[in-house]
Amino acid sequence: MAFLADILSRVKPSATIAVSQKARELKSQGMDVISLGAGEPDFDTPDNIKQAAKDAIDRGETKYTAVAGIIELREAIAAKFQRENGLNYSPAQIIAGTGGKQILFNAFMATLNPGDEVIIPRPYWVSYPEMVALCGGESVFLDTTTESDFKVTAESLEAAITPRTKWFMFNSPSNPSGAAYSRAELKELTDVLMKHPHVWILSDDMYEHLVYGEFEFVTPAQIEPGLYDRTLTMNGVSKAYSMTGWRLGYAGGPLELIKAMDMIQGQQTSGTSSVTQWAAVEALNGPQEFLEERRAAFEERRDLVVSMLNQATGLHCPKPDGAFYVFPSCADLIGKSTENGKVIESDEDFVTALLEQEGVAVVQGSAFGLGPNFRISYATSTEALKESCERIQRFCSSLQ
Ligand code: PLP
Repeated sequence: MAFLADILSRVKPSATIAVSQKARELKSQGMDVISLGAGEPDFDTPDNIKQAAKDAIDRGETKYTAVAGIIELREAIAAKFQRENGLNYSPAQIIAGTGGKQILFNAFMATLNPGDEVIIPRPYWVSYPEMVALCGGESVFLDTTTESDFKVTAESLEAAITPRTKWFMFNSPSNPSGAAYSRAELKELTDVLMKHPHVWILSDDMYEHLVYGEFEFVTPAQIEPGLYDRTLTMNGVSKAYSMTGWRLGYAGGPLELIKAMDMIQGQQTSGTSSVTQWAAVEALNGPQEFLEERRAAFEERRDLVVSMLNQATGLHCPKPDGAFYVFPSCADLIGKSTENGKVIESDEDFVTALLEQEGVAVVQGSAFGLGPNFRISYATSTEALKESCERIQRFCSSLQ
């Protein structure tokens, strides 16, 4: 349509939303559908956080706030960075926004000129390349494989850096693969970045609290203080505190960058809801014990899903260290036919046939830039996970 902006031709709609839509349609036609597509915890927001929001409303905390967030929140975020990551950010170096999404968008908007490159490991969270495109930049993808547990090597990072590289987009634990970098693995990447002072690091730490076994979470500016002056450390309350609908993300970084992001946010949303900000103060300063209970529940679900998927004919599922996703490969099933004679030529064919034949909704890996794989979110009940993995096993066995 001629009326719409040219920039829209560079942006794709979200595949994860398309899958949910298709699942809803089949459900409305009476099919028993289990959706493993959603990227949000099934747990409720803890009561103390809800109460803090109710109290804020009753106190009349219902007006515009400072664009970057109320000082109480920025102090709570600064304390969190110090306590959990050993990072020293003053409240002036911190901005809160309408979800991690707005923080990322602000950062790209504030820094990208036409032709500037952002290095993005593949598979990636669907929104990174679209945000880069909307802000006029170019995504440069770094490929990984199922065999290397979807992790980038120092050599491939080195090879991807050009004089136009502005950012290295880092996400550990990762959506969609769950891959998380150990201290030693991340140090190899930060050593490369130390050699290229024009490259900044955007670290998306959204799944920090969801790591399993003995795994220790680390973030780039923490393990390489030499990168502190060119790292934006991003995080949020959506996943850890089950607060996806509240819309609060935040970042700490160099003052000049934070000021630029503040200016953009001031013209865009004026910041996130005042009530949400008070809820987030309680989330960050209040009791943290429930995080461990929920983490343990996710770990059990991960173990169940990985074990059941690896028992399915033709699937190969690495066991990730974090987040609430697995990203199995269905490469061995490409070329086989369904009971109805449909040939599975791609991961998209695989997920469509799985949904139509067994009523299990998952997302094709190609939507995240890497196939033939698919993403399962295990942020749902153990019964639903068992049932859906049994259906996946039956589906894989039925392929000829
Ligand atoms: N980063 C990653 C890797 C995500 O998976 C998500 C949400 O799915 C976000 C950022 C954004 O989260 P929010 O905008 O809810 O804070």
